[in-house]
Amino acid sequence: MQITILGKSPSWADVGGACSGYLIESSETKILVDCGSGVFGKLRERIDYAEVDAIVISHFHGDHCLDLMPYAYALAYSPRWSPDNPPPRPRLIVPAGGSELLCQIAGVLGPGDAIVDAFDVSEYEPQDAVAVGDFELHFCHVPHFIPTFAISVTAGGEAGRFTFGADCAPNQALIDFAQGSDILLIESTLRVPEDDGPRGHMTATEAGAHGRAANVGRLVLTHIPDELDQAVSVAEASEAFGGEVTLASEGAVFHC
Ligand SMILES: [Zn+2]
Ligand SMILES: [Zn+2]
Repeated sequence: MQITILGKSPSWADVGGACSGYLIESSETKILVDCGSGVFGKLRERIDYAEVDAIVISHFHGDHCLDLMPYAYALAYSPRWSPDNPPPRPRLIVPAGGSELLCQIAGVLGPGDAIVDAFDVSEYEPQDAVAVGDFELHFCHVPHFIPTFAISVTAGGEAGRFTFGADCAPNQALIDFAQGSDILLIESTLRVPEDDGPRGHMTATEAGAHGRAANVGRLVLTHIPDELDQAVSVAEASEAFGGEVTLASEGAVFHC
């Protein structure tokens, strides 16, 4: 499978960047993991949005889902569609309870049914295995400020396993879930840990330690603001990981 970083910004966009969005492709199947603000335009730079088989959402913070609205508008209103060329209706796979949330989000920004009409929406529970083409998706609840799920993608045959940690505080569940992944894409939002209240994010050192404990083949850092010195994040994560760590720069492509 091929993984393309469409956006790696945290909850505000990097200069010229986009928030969370990762395109995963095989020869048969294309899925988009998260569709945060700015991601739809980045997706269009890579492929035709009508070719996406499914979008899967880790959680409903805006930096992970807000571009579902322009995506839905494109599927509804693009001048390319006609009775002879109707729009596709890609699958939209969201956490349990997400259909109602999609209506609430869309209802604030425009017609409440805009997203659920444009996509074929289904909800997942963390124990579910969801097949999309030749990919299989698995989920793991991780600690964040709202219900949030790490996502792993496997493909048949010799292909590898890709795990996206979503947004989360340090936790054992992600280490267990990601165990042995070929690639772990992990957030490292912070320079130092949050010092009061419940935690929802990781430092680069913590991200590196998670990759080491999970015995992953390759560790890729994401969800880092460009206003941090990202070279320091990579150095700190590499030291904790015990090997080279990569920064998820926009447009970067990985294979596993
Ligand atoms: Zn986020
Ligand atoms: Zn979040």
